[in-house]
Amino acid sequence: MGSQAHFGTEWAIFGNGNSTYSNSYNGAAKRIQTLLTQGKAKFLLPNYFHGDTAIEDPPWAQLEQWLQDVSIQLGGSSTQEPTGHYQSPSGRIASYPFNTSTPATITSCTLLSSNIRRLVLNVEKAKRGDFVHAEMLVPNRCTDVKKVLKAFGLSGREVVGPGSSPLTTQEVMTHFVDLKRPFTHTRWSKADKLNYQDEKALLSWPILKTSELFHGRWQCKIDPTALCGALPLSRPRHFSIASSKFDKTGEFLEFLVKCQRNGRFSSEFLSTATTGTSLRIRFAGTSSLSMIEDYSKPIIAFATGSGISSVKYILQQRFRQSLNHATSQEEPILKPSTTSLFVGFRSEDAHMVSDALHNAIRSNMVDILSLTPSNPEKSRAQDKVFDIKFRNIISAKIRDESCYVFVCASPQAAKGFSSNLSALIGRNVRDALGERYIEEVFEAA
Ligand SMILES: Cc1cc2nc3c(=O)[nH]c(=O)nc-3n(C[C@H](O)[C@H](O)[C@H](O)COP(=O)(O)OP(=O)(O)OC[C@H]3O[C@@H](n4cnc5c(N)ncnc54)[C@H](O)[C@@H]3O)c2cc1C
Repeated sequence: MGSQAHFGTEWAIFGNGNSTYSNSYNGAAKRIQTLLTQGKAKFLLPNYFHGDTAIEDPPWAQLEQWLQDVSIQLGGSSTQEPTGHYQSPSGRIASYPFNTSTPATITSCTLLSSNIRRLVLNVEKAKRGDFVHAEMLVPNRCTDVKKVLKAFGLSGREVVGPGSSPLTTQEVMTHFVDLKRPFTHTRWSKADKLNYQDEKALLSWPILKTSELFHGRWQCKIDPTALCGALPLSRPRHFSIASSKFDKTGEFLEFLVKCQRNGRFSSEFLSTATTGTSLRIRFAGTSSLSMIEDYSKPIIAFATGSGISSVKYILQQRFRQSLNHATSQEEPILKPSTTSLFVGFRSEDAHMVSDALHNAIRSNMVDILSLTPSNPEKSRAQDKVFDIKFRNIISAKIRDESCYVFVCASPQAAKGFSSNLSALIGRNVRDALGERYIEEVFEAA
């Protein structure tokens, strides 16, 4: 790369990262820039663009902004300054994901089995748009927030954040930051001289711990905006919407949440959360929207565990879409095409699965239903496509150009399902279906 950098080329780099991963944020872009700089490359823009999916995911508007900056530079116009996204994000309070988050309130949270919870959130419909996932920000406990505010001499009422959506220090600390991680820098403390040990502690110990250690130590008043700019953003957790319902108070969204061992959201937060608790969420994910809009096309779906939630939502929305279409076009209802379902689950979750599929079955939207609860023979849900009753129907659906395959399962089960379908049709099923093969694997965020 170094040698190629000489040939009169000018470079511009768009970094695509997530600032909640503070250590590795935009690491690749940084590395490429370093290599190019070593090769004496010329750059069109002052730095690589700090694209941030914590603010917008996918970052299309940011990419648009970068392309505009590039074209301005190429056109030789110097009247417009490039955007501020070329600065390091530390201390960049204006870029917090404030604008893109939606307030939500817990309506109910119930254990359906030993490790799955049904969570219902109330959100303002106007803010939602067409998305199929929500990214939950785990709120900090009220007592912890109070402790930290007090330690830094803040009342919680100081207004910080971008002008369009001003927030108080209390709101920032409650909803957007991870108090279990250390500060990202200590520039906010410049009025108070820190020694090496203090600096090291602030940059390596959780804020909750340093608040206790440094309580009452600050001689000078701390600038709340500078302090908030040094707080580490909380990492959002993705969850698929399982269903949605409206009334005049807003939209109610249902989620099926598997309790992860030591899971900050699924276990710690939800085990104590009560009705009325507020949190911030962001909507994301559009991959399965085509299946909803294209409701006249058949689907083959495979889900394990809480993956059934995505299937439930898609079927609910296909049905709703068909009703809407009929009303708006004044045409008779064209029923959604059928879905062939292969589901694996723990025996104790049988009730959750039947509840999730009840409406779709009642509306005749399911043509094959293969249910595989945990069993002593260890037979696997993904292998049921070879069943003599199903194999011809499944092969025909895949060969029929218009079929979708939707997989929402653990990575291993998803891999097994795709290999089995490929074996059935004699070629790679992903190649055969292209964008009509949609897979969501439930990995840790
Ligand atoms: C697009 C998408 C949609 C999702 N939808 C759902 C959904 O509807 N319901 C649901 O329950 N989950 C879903 N997940 C998975 C969920 O986002 C993660 O399990 C999340 O990390 C849970 O957050 P937590 O705070 O409870 O656990 P964390 O604090 O993030 O993790 C705690 C511990 O559990 C481990 N862990 C967390 N999740 C997993 C996992 N899935 N597999 C293996 N180890 C894990 C972590 O490595 C860590 O050690 C989805 C993930 C994606 C990417």
